[in-house]
Amino acid sequence: MNAIASFLTGFGATVLGLLVFVAYRFFEVQSLFERYLPLDGSVKVLASYLIAFVVVFSLLIFSANLDKFKLNRFEDSGAWIKWVLFLFTIVINAYFWDVTKGDNQTIFFKSVLVVFLGITDYAYNHLFVSSWMDKQSLNRAFTSLSQLQAKESDLRAKVSKLSTSLSELIARQDPKVCPRCGKAFDNSNQRNGHLRSCQKTLKISNNEL
Ligand SMILES: [Zn+2]
Repeated sequence: MNAIASFLTGFGATVLGLLVFVAYRFFEVQSLFERYLPLDGSVKVLASYLIAFVVVFSLLIFSANLDKFKLNRFEDSGAWIKWVLFLFTIVINAYFWDVTKGDNQTIFFKSVLVVFLGITDYAYNHLFVSSWMDKQSLNRAFTSLSQLQAKESDLRAKVSKLSTSLSELIARQDPKVCPRCGKAFDNSNQRNGHLRSCQKTLKISNNEL
């Protein structure tokens, strides 16, 4: 059940819904062109399919790239093109369903259907863009996280290299001289005792890391 819920709320379902809706719109637009094109016979049918493909494919590209229509003065990215697509869907549906024909009951039903289909189209476009942006910001966060992890392991390697050099340096020092402050002692025991309380701790500057 969780898998179904994840799919339905995920990006895949939004894309699938958008494509299914595009398929519906293709037949809708094609039938309108077949009805209204000033051509005859098989040429008219062929032309209606070709033009419907051009129109629907363009709409799909617009829907998939809504954020690129952002105008600086609008906060919501691509808001205006979503409204243009919404109005286009309303008009196409109104003609497809012959919304003005029939008795009052039929006209009411058709009008509700036309508005519902327009809202569905708008909602799919909105969902697609917001899901895509969420997905991209998640990817960006993952990239930054792996960059930070790489930097951290690089720093760890440098620190361990520095500790090794430091140990070697201490080992090479005179056992009676403090490697930190340079103070000389009578024997190594005194020097080791002093090391635990030596005020001069070694400093590693940032550019060494
Ligand atoms: Zn010292």
